Amino acid sequence: MTDTQNKFKEYLNKLAQYEQVIALLQWDLKTAAPENGTASKIEALSFFSTEYFRLMTAEEFGSLLKALSAPEEFDSLNDAMKITVTRYFRDYQKSKNIPEDFFTEYVNASAHSEQAWEAAKRASDYSIFLPHLQKMIDMTKQKIAFTDPGKEIYDVLLDTYEEGMDSATIDRLFEEVKKELVPLLQKIKSAPEPDSSIFNAHYDIDSQKHLQDFLLSYIGFSHKSGNTAESEHPFTLSLGLGDSRVTNHYSLNDPISAIFSAIHEGGHAIFEQNINPSFEKTAAASVNLLGLHESQSRFYENILGRNIHFWEPIYEKLGEFLPKFKEISLEDFCREINHVKCSFIRTEADELTYPFHIILRYEIEKAIFREGVTADKLPELWNQKMEEMLGIVPSNDAEGILQDMHWSDGSFGYFPTYLLGTIYDGMFLEQIEKELGSLDSILAEGRISQVTKWLNENIHQYGSLYTSKEVIQRVCSREISAEPIIRYFKEKYSKIYNL
Ligand code: ZN
Repeated sequence: MTDTQNKFKEYLNKLAQYEQVIALLQWDLKTAAPENGTASKIEALSFFSTEYFRLMTAEEFGSLLKALSAPEEFDSLNDAMKITVTRYFRDYQKSKNIPEDFFTEYVNASAHSEQAWEAAKRASDYSIFLPHLQKMIDMTKQKIAFTDPGKEIYDVLLDTYEEGMDSATIDRLFEEVKKELVPLLQKIKSAPEPDSSIFNAHYDIDSQKHLQDFLLSYIGFSHKSGNTAESEHPFTLSLGLGDSRVTNHYSLNDPISAIFSAIHEGGHAIFEQNINPSFEKTAAASVNLLGLHESQSRFYENILGRNIHFWEPIYEKLGEFLPKFKEISLEDFCREINHVKCSFIRTEADELTYPFHIILRYEIEKAIFREGVTADKLPELWNQKMEEMLGIVPSNDAEGILQDMHWSDGSFGYFPTYLLGTIYDGMFLEQIEKELGSLDSILAEGRISQVTKWLNENIHQYGSLYTSKEVIQRVCSREISAEPIIRYFKEKYSKIYNL
């Protein structure tokens, strides 16, 4: 190893120690810190985050990256190090182009905008949020003019959350999903709805937690490389390799939501837990490909967890943890977890209507950054698209445009990754069945560990070494297509709804 490479390794080690502290503080803030302890934790978090940002933009780091980018050094690096140098050098150059006073103003505006969004959502009053949202839109455009001069703004935004992805590809995929799923949804809407009243009961919270531990182990989550806690919204947090934690939110009346959050977050964590250990402290170990990450959580939650055969070997167990389920048949349970209903809130949407919530947001983001549509026009556009796709119109902005926080802190281009993940899932499912045989049989026979092993070997171990497009090409030997997931939806729901 050359002298520069040694110094770089030391530098990466320093970054990793800051990452540990930052992640620990985040975990503590969201799961454990008492009310009177939050202010000091937030102060520490902001201190370490600022220091981390300084390290990532320091001249010393820049010269190391520059030296390692030279062919004589670069060619001798392993793949994980190559990715690390390339990605960090790109980010370094981008952030160097942002003037410091602009950066401070942006951070400030984003904090105010988040607060305004919260207040607006509480009051269901879009006018409180409107000026802040417009400012975030304008500042996002300015920021990209600094970091990526001359490039198409929305494509730069998409690339931030899913490297290598572009709107031409997404247009093609989403258009196809929309075209094929609208008629399917129309048919389902005219079919009779299942009766959900049999689920009315109290479900002990401790028992729900024990059920979660069981389910996590069942799908392949390692309790030695992760643990669980409670938080307002479920999430997964990685504290380096060998430590991926998940949270959940429990409700006394509705165990189903917590069951599927557990499986979803478990899918994220299983990905993190199985990254190649030799990638430790490199950029390949942090998976900032959000579409790929979401493909794994949704694969477990929907493709596996909402399949009746997933429950066959373990349905009795469900009744042992939550006795009410002894009175409910497996068929009724599966009918309920696949209940299609057009609703307003994205995070509560079922598997089939969820894609429409994402397409709506994608089309609005394009309208903002391509057609220059201003923030005052957005609620109307939102409601119009909601009616066009789902046939319902929100009665207020809290259940319409104000429901998600993403735009308040400037996370434009994030939403499409949710549906991209689902589209990738269709392709992974097709490939798994080609290689391992029918998924229904694998699940019915309790051989789910074979699926997890396949995902470990084909996807998880590589972390973010490859972009999602590259992963698909490597694993499925073809270009991304929405056709497999559309076929999956049609077959599955035609059967459930007797269409
Ligand atoms: Zn997720």
